[in-house]
Amino acid sequence: MNIHEYQAKELLARFGVPVPAGHAAMSVEEAVAAAGQLPGPLYVVKAQIHAGGRGKGRFKELGAEAKGGVRLANSPEEVRAHAAEMLGNTLVTIQTGPQGKQVNRLYVTDGVDIAREFYLALLVDRKTGRIAFVASTEGGMNIEDVAHETPEKIRTFTVDPATGFMPHHGRAVASALRLEGDLAKQAQKIAARLYEAFVGTDASQIEVNPLAVTDDGRLLVLDAKVGFDSNAEFRHPDLESLRDESEEDPMELEASRHDLAYIKLDGNIGCMVNGAGLAMATMDIIKLNGAFPANFLDVGGGASKEKVTSAFKIILSDPAVKGILVNIFGGIMRCDIIAEGIVAAAREVELNVPLVVRLEGTNVEEGKAILADSGLAIVPADDLGDAARKIVAQVKQPG
Ligand code: ADP
Ligand code: MG
Repeated sequence: MNIHEYQAKELLARFGVPVPAGHAAMSVEEAVAAAGQLPGPLYVVKAQIHAGGRGKGRFKELGAEAKGGVRLANSPEEVRAHAAEMLGNTLVTIQTGPQGKQVNRLYVTDGVDIAREFYLALLVDRKTGRIAFVASTEGGMNIEDVAHETPEKIRTFTVDPATGFMPHHGRAVASALRLEGDLAKQAQKIAARLYEAFVGTDASQIEVNPLAVTDDGRLLVLDAKVGFDSNAEFRHPDLESLRDESEEDPMELEASRHDLAYIKLDGNIGCMVNGAGLAMATMDIIKLNGAFPANFLDVGGGASKEKVTSAFKIILSDPAVKGILVNIFGGIMRCDIIAEGIVAAAREVELNVPLVVRLEGTNVEEGKAILADSGLAIVPADDLGDAARKIVAQVKQPG
């Protein structure tokens, strides 16, 4: 789960991380009121969407000369003008894709005079299985570009979970950012507190870009992106209120409500599979046969008929889907249950795309009989290869 910048900053502030003062606003009036609570004279109005690159982003509805999603304002009246232009419009950034994201919330925050901008992130390094710090003197820009053009300017090191954060980790961050004296001390403290926040919330990433040095010698978090490990969500019921469902893919959201592991992809063959490994293999074999999967979907080991029905409906609600491949190995899951779910869903939602079903395992004969007796145009398949060839042939058929 990801959260907005203003939520991330409120959260980090609770762990003692220095951030500029600011207030969220859902309307123009709230934005002006927020500015009234700040000291001024410089304000920043920031679009709150779950994507970065807002500063360099452009609004779809506004001309090319209009400013992006992070705007400086010199008075509450200027804040009003920016808020009125941004709210309700669609911001396109390198991270949103061409369709962009509608701006429904703003963050009005203290403007600071920036001397230098750094990059500092914490994430889970899969290779070492440890929390890693990623630090760069090249902040404020797209870190992927830095990684591509000047990789030597990015320093990465991991923290041994047996010791946790140690003073030397803080010194390593300060040194990676080439800071000395008081600024180095501030960097060490911020690194320690970010680590505490990361562990304390079971985060999966905390990305600060930029971490800024101000003209008056303070180190401040000016932008923060925080994501949480969904496997640990149950340990943080308080964080659930930070969820903004309007930022999530509607189909993925619906799937999570039914406890289905669903990820939307770019292809046109919908997949319903039990088990993540089999789901991966199914996507691979679709590609091997020259087509692309429309989704990853794991209905899990012990899915009910209702779960199968909702999975089926979610796949069918994707307009890109031109055919469906159901690939079930009934170990814990019984094939007849799956078959009943498929038939129920296909009857409920008008099934207007070809459906290939490969069933194997417990009660497979009963399952196949249910499908055959249903009167629905279901193409049975014998094995994984046969299933993939059949669905790809169906989807590729002209007309
Ligand atoms: P994004 O990464 O989505 O573009 P940022 O919050 O990083 O959004 O803002 C982009 C740039 O705007 C920053 O790199 C920084 O130069 C400037 N900026 C952001 N917040 C402030 C602030 N509070 N005061 C002054 N400048 C800011
Ligand atoms: Mg940023």
